[in-house]
Amino acid sequence: MRPQLKPISVVQRPAEVILLGHALEATYLDDEDGSVSTLLQVLAQGSRTVAELPAAMRERGFEVTEADMSAAVGALDEVGVLLRAGADAGLDAATRRRHESNLRFYDLFAGLERTSADFHRAMAAADVLLLGAGGMGSGVLQSLLGLGVGRIRLVDFDAVEEKNLARQFAYGRDDIGRNKVDAARDWAARYSPGTVVEAVHERVSDVASLVRLGAGASLVVCAIDSPNDVHLLVNEACFELGVPFVTGGLQYSMLFYWSVEPGVSPCRMCLELNRADEGETMPELSTQAVVLPAGRVNRATGPVAQLLAGFVTLEAGRYLTRTDPPVAAGVYHTIELADGMRTTRAPWTRHPRCPLCDRTRGA
Ligand SMILES: [Zn+2]
Repeated sequence: MRPQLKPISVVQRPAEVILLGHALEATYLDDEDGSVSTLLQVLAQGSRTVAELPAAMRERGFEVTEADMSAAVGALDEVGVLLRAGADAGLDAATRRRHESNLRFYDLFAGLERTSADFHRAMAAADVLLLGAGGMGSGVLQSLLGLGVGRIRLVDFDAVEEKNLARQFAYGRDDIGRNKVDAARDWAARYSPGTVVEAVHERVSDVASLVRLGAGASLVVCAIDSPNDVHLLVNEACFELGVPFVTGGLQYSMLFYWSVEPGVSPCRMCLELNRADEGETMPELSTQAVVLPAGRVNRATGPVAQLLAGFVTLEAGRYLTRTDPPVAAGVYHTIELADGMRTTRAPWTRHPRCPLCDRTRGA
């Protein structure tokens, strides 16, 4: 294994080296004698094993042992600036070409243990139950195909309407009147035949049907908003299936997304019980008696639906590849479109008497 420095900026200062590994993160390393910057230059080539590093350093005037190099490489890997050189070679040439930008994205999270090729393989092996082929769902479908997910079961009951063309870019004029799942499957086959898309023309109504649809899935994405208690149904089904789910939507002018990992994060039922304890109802779209109901208006334009699909797919990707921990597990994320794109994140807690979380406790 040949460690290689990621293509990051390295700033040399007197007696110090600064590694700029992330946009907002710098690592400062003491470098009195210049050996650190020399090692970084050697590592940037990615052509030597740890055992070969002492000789390379000796050529450059530094006497170091293999143990020194092993410790230094371990420390650099710890701060996330090393890759395993040549790890992409484990993928065939066509996959490397098709997924080049995906692999370079994964580089952000790769290290000597887990490579970008490993993350890609995890995505390619994944099986997603995608509920909904509308504004958010069709966007999630497109992004998951771009990432090269292995299999998607796409469930929807609607047909394509003219108004969908404002934001559902998997459909065209010729699709108007067709079932969305069929049109989406055909689009997917043209775009990226590497992903198996199964079209299920069905209306989601209960936990049992969700459990049936989700058999064998590694993740559920909920991109539907009916029936009214759909999030609770999906929540319960995901406990049965033992897989996480991600969801999102638009309330008035606010995008939101969150996820649940059964047995690990607080669940949607916990949130419900917490709110009941606090005498609170749903924020924004309230369940209490209102003089004038807000009505179901869909304000999701193309960019809004794409933003939402992007946030949801990124979170789905964290579960499928485990590049980094899910950011929305038991955390309500919002982005306010009509107020300067203000973002908030509100974690909720596990409810002590949640019947679903209770079942998995200590398991
Ligand atoms: Zn719970």
